[in-house]
Amino acid sequence: MATIAFIGLGNMGLPMAKNLLKGGHRVIGVDLAPANLAAAAEAGIETGPAAGPAASLADVIVTMLPAGPHVRAVYGNAGGVIESAKPGTLFIDSSTVDVDSARAVAAQAEKAGHLMLDAPVSGGTGGAAAGTLTFMVGGSDAAFDKAKPYLELMGKTIVHAGGPGTGQAAKICNNMVLGISMIAVSEAFALADKLGLDRQKLFDISSKSSGQCWSLTSYCPVPGPVPTSPANREYQPGFAVDMMLKDLKLAQQAAASAGASTPLGAQAAALYQLFSAAGHGGLDFSAIVKMLQGK
Ligand code: NAD
Repeated sequence: MATIAFIGLGNMGLPMAKNLLKGGHRVIGVDLAPANLAAAAEAGIETGPAAGPAASLADVIVTMLPAGPHVRAVYGNAGGVIESAKPGTLFIDSSTVDVDSARAVAAQAEKAGHLMLDAPVSGGTGGAAAGTLTFMVGGSDAAFDKAKPYLELMGKTIVHAGGPGTGQAAKICNNMVLGISMIAVSEAFALADKLGLDRQKLFDISSKSSGQCWSLTSYCPVPGPVPTSPANREYQPGFAVDMMLKDLKLAQQAAASAGASTPLGAQAAALYQLFSAAGHGGLDFSAIVKMLQGK
C-alpha cells in the first residue's frame, strides 16, 4: 500500500482518486474548493490542508488541475510539491497543459531528485469514474515503470509516448485531428443538405469510403445515423466546445513554440472560438455543425 497525495479533486480528479482508494492505497486529497473536499471526505478519502504538507507524507503525487499555471504553481512554488516531497517521490501530472509547462516542471522536479511524468488522459468523466481512461505518458522509463500499477487502477489503455512532454504532445496532436475532422464532417453534412443529398445516404456511403473517420462513424454531428452521438440529445456533452477550444489553443501554442506549420489547426481554433463566443461553449463540440449550417 502506498500513500498517494491527490491534488485537484474536480470533475475528473475525484473519481480518479476514488479508484486509487479502491485499489487499496491511502489517499490524501487536496483541493481549494471546500465542496470538493467534502465530497472526497464522504467517499472515504482523507483530506489535507495544502499540496506541500500532503506531498511531504506521500510516496506518489497525482495532480489533476485546470491548466499550466496551476501546475507550475502547485509543483514549483515555495513550500510546494517539489520542495516538500521526500527525495525520489513519483509525480504524475494528469492535467492537460502546454508542452512547455510540462517540460519545465519535469526538469525542475528531476533536478530536485524526483521522478516526474506528464500523463494527460482522454475518456472524460465517464472514463474517470469507470477506471477506463486512456493515459498518454511522457517521461523516463524508470518513472513509467513505477507509475504503471497506479495508472492501471485509473485507466485501461496506458501508452508510454516518450520523454518529458510527449504525453501532452500526443494529447494535443490527437485532439487537433479530432477538432479538424469534426469540422470537415460537419461541412460535408451542411453541403449535402444544400445539395438535396439525404444525410443517412451520405453516412452510409462515406462511412464505407475514404471519408470514413471517428468524427463521422462514432460521433456523427447530425442526429440519426449514430444513435449514441450527442447530436441525438441536443448536443449535451460529451466533450464540450470550451474543452476542445482549450486543446486547440494548446496545439497552436505548441506549434508556435516549435515552429510547426498547422494552418488547419489554426482555422479550427478560430471557428471554435467564434462558436464559444456566441455562447455555445457548454455544448458538445460536435454542435459546431449548427454554425456551419448557418443556424
Ligand atoms: P475541474 O475544474 O473540475 O477540477 C480542477 C480542480 O483543481 C478544481 O476542483 C480546483 O478547485 C482544483 N484546483 C485548482 N487549483 C488548485 C490548487 N492550487 N490546489 C489544489 N486544487 C486546485 O477540472 P476537470 O474537468 O477535473 O479537469 C482537470 C484537467 O483534466 C484539466 O486540465 C482538463 O483539461 C483535463 N481533462 C478534463 C476532461 C473532462 O472531461 N472534464 C477530460 C480530459 C482531460
